[in-house]
Amino acid sequence: MELLKEKIRTEGKIREGNILKVDNFLNHQMDIKLLNEIGKEFRKRFEGERVDKILTIEASGIGIAAIVSQYFDYIPVVFAKKAASLNLDKEVYETKVQSYTKNKIFNVKVGKDFLNSGEKILVIDDFLANGCAAKGLLDLIHQAGAEAVGVGIVIEKGFQDGRSVLEKEGVRVESLAILDRMENGQVFFK
Ligand code: 5GP
Repeated sequence: MELLKEKIRTEGKIREGNILKVDNFLNHQMDIKLLNEIGKEFRKRFEGERVDKILTIEASGIGIAAIVSQYFDYIPVVFAKKAASLNLDKEVYETKVQSYTKNKIFNVKVGKDFLNSGEKILVIDDFLANGCAAKGLLDLIHQAGAEAVGVGIVIEKGFQDGRSVLEKEGVRVESLAILDRMENGQVFFK
């Protein structure tokens, strides 16, 4: 997706540990026009597929998924929670996710009422690095007896293992921008 790549080239900042910061348009301040184009592109990529719900993970996935939903006939968006919450129902599906950016393991949960057997679920997230977040979401989907239609990623770090981890699970991965490498402050795409 050329518009997204241009945004990454001009506004992305490379940080230590192979982290790409896109706080200017995706992870802190959000460019809603760009997010709408992202929504349209995911719709195109998954055209013809039945999708009942979108599943993402807090926090950065939520805003993206909410806009993507509008291009899938306003289907519900469910976000897995990382934070321990007294409000969360006792009946939950739960899995562990190693956070790439926070270097910490989270217990990630979804209330059992919000993922159901037989549902077709599209996973949406901002980044794919080692695949831990997306793999955790697939685990929640499987626990519920639902089915993953695919994983839609805004920015894939193609030099990490995420894609192969997910493809081993037999799931389709669609990424809108795939990074080949980051060198001397510059981003190169595949
Ligand atoms: P994974 O679980 O695939 O290793 O990492 C994906 C998660 O880590 C995403 O949900 C994203 O929030 C975060 N992440 C991984 N790499 C980056 C990065 O380079 N930049 C930013 N902003 N987030 C990242």
